[in-house]
Amino acid sequence: MIAADRCTGRFAPSPSGPLHFGSLLAALASFVDARARSGRWLVRMEDLDPPREMPGADSLILATLEKHALHWDGAVLYQHSRHARYREILADLSARGLAYCCACSRARLATLGHVYDGHCRTHSPPAGQTCALRLQLPDQVVQFEDRIQGWQQQNLAKGGDCIIHRKDGLFAYQLAVVVDDAAQGVTDIVRGSDILESTGQQIYLGGLLGAGKQQYAHIPVVLGADGLKLSKQNHAPALDDTRPSPNLCRALETLRQNPPGGLDNETPETVLKWAVTHWDITAIPGVNSVTA
Ligand SMILES: [Zn+2]
Repeated sequence: MIAADRCTGRFAPSPSGPLHFGSLLAALASFVDARARSGRWLVRMEDLDPPREMPGADSLILATLEKHALHWDGAVLYQHSRHARYREILADLSARGLAYCCACSRARLATLGHVYDGHCRTHSPPAGQTCALRLQLPDQVVQFEDRIQGWQQQNLAKGGDCIIHRKDGLFAYQLAVVVDDAAQGVTDIVRGSDILESTGQQIYLGGLLGAGKQQYAHIPVVLGADGLKLSKQNHAPALDDTRPSPNLCRALETLRQNPPGGLDNETPETVLKWAVTHWDITAIPGVNSVTA
């Protein structure tokens, strides 16, 4: 759709609840990183899983971004509008022999732990049976330099063949994220380190789809006082939209950007302007998590 000739970052929340501090960190880091290179910054709503979504959460998220002066370029892309494209890609991967149907029961999968054994690669389920589609992953190491976490080597076979179309008919995150980053011309992916482990699979899938190369930067995820990742599932508190500048300054401190004292009394636009001018991605700690 769009030529990937200009630095393009993105923030891609799932609308399962309002934004919390952990997601602000990802939004802010991706925004400032793109703007520091005069790049575009896109917002994509990853609404792939309706049962886990909260009605109206997309509007709440967008309103919070605007209150924090995190203004995006172009229209917000909703993944629910992309099903036809996902189906095309799935059909293409199947036709090329790169994906296969898996009808394994939950009980069988439970006995395997977290690594699928590839059973259905050679035991095709009977036609017409409800099945998931798995991407056939080769025994191959993917290497890439993460701008924050450093050099990464990931063995694709280690996690087993990943699901790209779920048995319940929903499209898998692993498929949609790759297809849409490519379609939107995203060049720079800045996101939480909880996705770092599956990045090798995404790079591999992107290669199969002819997607352009992307740079990655995985920021630490924020843990609450309970030691769990701040998330909607763990009931992280929603951001207070009436205090955008203190929220942004706290996020910049968490990213070790050292905002000067008093900046939190300025407008959010001023805070972001400071952040863009002084952005130093190498100052962000290359660790998996930090405590809020
Ligand atoms: Zn199977």
